[in-house]
Amino acid sequence: MSLNPSSPPDSPRSIRMHAADNVAIVVNDGGLPAGTVMPDGLTLVGRVPQGHKVALTAIAKDAAVLRYNVPIGYALKDIPAGAWVHERLLHMPDARTLDNLPKATAPAWNAEPLTGYTFEGYRNADGSVGTRNILAITTTVQCVAGVVDFAVQRIKEQLLPRYPNVDDVIGLEHSYGCGVAIDAPDAIIPIRTLRNISKNPNFGGEVMVVSLGCEKLQPERLLPPGSIPLQANEALDVVCLQADKHVGFMSMIDSVLASAVPHLERLNARRRETIPASELVVGVQCGGSDAFSGVTANPAVGYCTDLLVRAGATVMFSETTEVRDAIEQMTARATTPEIADAIAREMAWYDAYLGRGQADRSANTTPGNKAGGLSNIVEKAMGSIIKSGTAPISGVLSPGEKLQHKGLHYAATPASDFICGTLQLAAGMNLHVFTTGRGTPYGLAEVPVIKVATRTDLARRWHDLMDVNAGRIADGEATIEDTGWELFHLMLEVASGRKKTWAEHWKLHNSLVLFNPAPIT
Ligand code: CA
Repeated sequence: MSLNPSSPPDSPRSIRMHAADNVAIVVNDGGLPAGTVMPDGLTLVGRVPQGHKVALTAIAKDAAVLRYNVPIGYALKDIPAGAWVHERLLHMPDARTLDNLPKATAPAWNAEPLTGYTFEGYRNADGSVGTRNILAITTTVQCVAGVVDFAVQRIKEQLLPRYPNVDDVIGLEHSYGCGVAIDAPDAIIPIRTLRNISKNPNFGGEVMVVSLGCEKLQPERLLPPGSIPLQANEALDVVCLQADKHVGFMSMIDSVLASAVPHLERLNARRRETIPASELVVGVQCGGSDAFSGVTANPAVGYCTDLLVRAGATVMFSETTEVRDAIEQMTARATTPEIADAIAREMAWYDAYLGRGQADRSANTTPGNKAGGLSNIVEKAMGSIIKSGTAPISGVLSPGEKLQHKGLHYAATPASDFICGTLQLAAGMNLHVFTTGRGTPYGLAEVPVIKVATRTDLARRWHDLMDVNAGRIADGEATIEDTGWELFHLMLEVASGRKKTWAEHWKLHNSLVLFNPAPIT
């Protein structure tokens, strides 16, 4: 990556990601006007907005436009040097076929193990570790959501003050459970997602369920015997609203509160203890991306991913449509040919899923992405995959599956922020890292979300929403390595409960959103 950090802040600045690239992106807030002379002597022949690409040389019609040393498109007409290269000038490359992929061909990863880093967490009976201490009320169906919400407010007002070690009480609300083709093959995805979320490490192994009674997703189907560890001699703790004993609304609320008490007592007895950093389970994703995502925030997250893997921790990257164009890199980095095959299998499943809806990966980019300088999904993907760092990919999860071992995983999920976050929760994440360029106030109630801004302008305006400013990398004030280490240390602080994220401070959180590729009835 080449930039000109020594120049004054308001002088014209651009960033080229690779020496072979024939475009660079403009760094300056507000972009640069026509006639601007860049430090290398290039004169802009038109205005170029911030984050957008400028042609470094004349690019002939049909020639490749290279960013990250990858063809992100082919010129639809001759583009002069110094011109703004926007998406209307580019023809997007076709998706690579899933045949003849390199499998586990990357050179061995010889990074030194990182030892001695710890955090203060809650060790669970199953060996997992929580970063927060939360009573989560599992629901079988959306019908009970209003009642559970009412009960949660009552628990917070009347019970929680008696249990000072419990951080929060939340209802795991969702739109599934009835009115769905529950025997369709793909229904396994939303069902196992809900099942595995109830076992998230932040909930301490305490599972209580509120059910309506007549729904398709009966409690025994959601949590069959053996799927969760129960206290000795206890059955699954279910409050059924349609039970005969409930006469009047308040009797339902009383039942939920009574059920909550033993769970709160056990959660309240939990104590933080010193835990090696290897027990962190970090989900990384991006949302509201711009052209800086792949220059500042995502490379810093990628550096931090490598630190975490070196420390023996678990990292998941996801967002299938945003890594589809990096498939060769992924299968090459797989630890075994079988892992490479699993990556390709998830991509093929997603291609078919999109195809059923008469769409493809190009449906991913948003108006905001394009306004931020990302011409198409190929350019977006090259900036997105960097979050995965350079470590070998040692595991693959289908949507809603739970992690079985440590290391870097490709957890196949849609790129939708809430769906990706929900599926990473089901996988067992105890800390979430989210990068954004356009800005989103995203948060989850279940785990802390550390938000990383790609640009200083965003970090300045959203100073009480963004936790890390990776824009300093583009400003020449910090390196990718500095910012990666800053994020790593912040993760240990946040995981330990010593620091709250801004989303936690303001209690901002988004809904759980299930991925349901199966039919609705
Ligand atoms: Ca996303």
